[in-house]
Amino acid sequence: MDTLRSHCGGRWVDGKGALETLLNPATEEALARVSSEGVDRAAALDYARRTGGPALRALSFAERGVLLAAMSERIQAHRDEILELAVANGGNTRSDAKFDVDGATFTLSAYAELGRGLGDARILADGEGVTLGRSPRFHGQHVSVPRHGAAVHINAFNFPAWGFAEKAAAALLAGMPVLSKPASSSALVAHRIMEILVDAAVLPPGALSLLVGSAGDLLRHLGPQDVVAFTGSGDTGALIRAMPELVRDSVRVNVEADSLNAAVLGPDAGPGSETYELFLKDVVRDMTQKAGQKCTAIRRILAPAGVADRVRDDVVDRLSAVTVGNPASEGVRMGPVATAAQLEDVRAGIEALARDGRLVFGRTALPVGVPEGKGFFVGPVLIEVEPGAEGATVHSREVFGPVATVVPYSGDAADAVEIVARGRGGLVSSVYSDDVAFTTEAALGLAPYHGRLFLGSARIAEQSPGPGTVLPTLVHGGPGRAGGGEELGGARGLALYRQRLALEGSRPVVERIAGLKA
Ligand code: NAP
Repeated sequence: MDTLRSHCGGRWVDGKGALETLLNPATEEALARVSSEGVDRAAALDYARRTGGPALRALSFAERGVLLAAMSERIQAHRDEILELAVANGGNTRSDAKFDVDGATFTLSAYAELGRGLGDARILADGEGVTLGRSPRFHGQHVSVPRHGAAVHINAFNFPAWGFAEKAAAALLAGMPVLSKPASSSALVAHRIMEILVDAAVLPPGALSLLVGSAGDLLRHLGPQDVVAFTGSGDTGALIRAMPELVRDSVRVNVEADSLNAAVLGPDAGPGSETYELFLKDVVRDMTQKAGQKCTAIRRILAPAGVADRVRDDVVDRLSAVTVGNPASEGVRMGPVATAAQLEDVRAGIEALARDGRLVFGRTALPVGVPEGKGFFVGPVLIEVEPGAEGATVHSREVFGPVATVVPYSGDAADAVEIVARGRGGLVSSVYSDDVAFTTEAALGLAPYHGRLFLGSARIAEQSPGPGTVLPTLVHGGPGRAGGGEELGGARGLALYRQRLALEGSRPVVERIAGLKA
């Protein structure tokens, strides 16, 4: 069995000591082993800062964009092999795996294109210059430059390709070297991508490092020019944010965490309408894609009380048609959750949700194509609650699996907003309505609690990938429970890795430094 190695300090490094075994979550077959014990994290960071940083900063945005395009092209060239690994190690159906891997290449390409647009610049002017004195000679201008540290990326288990790529794309284009740490349980995909990129030598030495296995003391070695971008549970995010070493040096920390995303059905979008169909399709896709292990998945289904029963029945109808099993088997539409621990957590979460409501759908059929008793399977589960009596759990516990709750509301936008806001901040919520007044009131009410709002209507139904898809051109992140972070959003995503500063002085000097005049 292979033992995955880290790529730190410009070479492959074996981990020592206790090895963790990576499994196929459908069959529990052992796939590889991993350990990061003994990897010198301080030296790895030092190499990234001293070697990768200067090499990237010597390049223009356009040149860094070319590197991202090459990364995307290499990953695409090995697409089938990576998809197979995602099916085996992630419990992904092929369609789930494509969502992850194609999302990675697409995001790298989008940032490559952004780099091309930013051209020969190395410094970015931020907004217009301002006159500071009596005459225009005394001038101010905001600019941004790459930070001189390393960008440490800690990723969750559910998107080993996209999570790796979306963070790396923004950091590398911004001019910062990256040390990426995938979640251990699904590290095969990120590890293989790293092998492909190293073999093709697409990046300058030190621009990208990979640490597989546990983070260990990695974050203790960070300093004031470094950045941490973390994606995972709120608990781990809170732990990292409070680390004294990070607090002391004001290390920049971006957290992408849990979310109790809601889908609000407007009272006008009744059964039979195109918008109702879009709503149903998005709810069922989010519950079953990647077995519900998507940070953006719909967890709370808000339906006007008069149609809540119909919504419940229609969702149950569609869930009944979902074949659960080994994603490598023909016809399977939903695989297992990623690990035994994840399964335990999802089961406990379902019990907690059901205590506050009623379990209306839960599959008991045996998974297809799986040795008896094997695999971390949980079928889709739908819970419903009484109008106005949903209890606290549905608004406080993110069950990271194929689970959602129908929450009836009055049909007033203000009531929907009040209920959704009990989730204390989310990544994305959606409003399904063709009534512009309802959508506007709901959107303005929901806006302070979210990083993104998806406004579903008949006008966009045909083109929409749904709220669960994160696009590189739009920001990803959210306030409160969602971690308070922000990634992507086109050029906005570079800000995390760059130092913004104000220059004030004589106008020709300021404009020359800002790259606005030759
Ligand atoms: P997790 O247990 O918090 O782990 C996330 C990552 O943090 C893993 O790479 C893990 O490494 C690492 N880690 C754990 N403890 C650490 C520590 N003390 N110091 C540094 N790193 C540490 O979360 P998960 O179970 O993998 O992911 C599921 C959660 O992620 C869900 O709650 C989901 O909502 C959230 N998520 C959010 C987003 C988003 O964009 N907002 C996206 C995807 C997932 P090991 O694997 O080696 O333990």
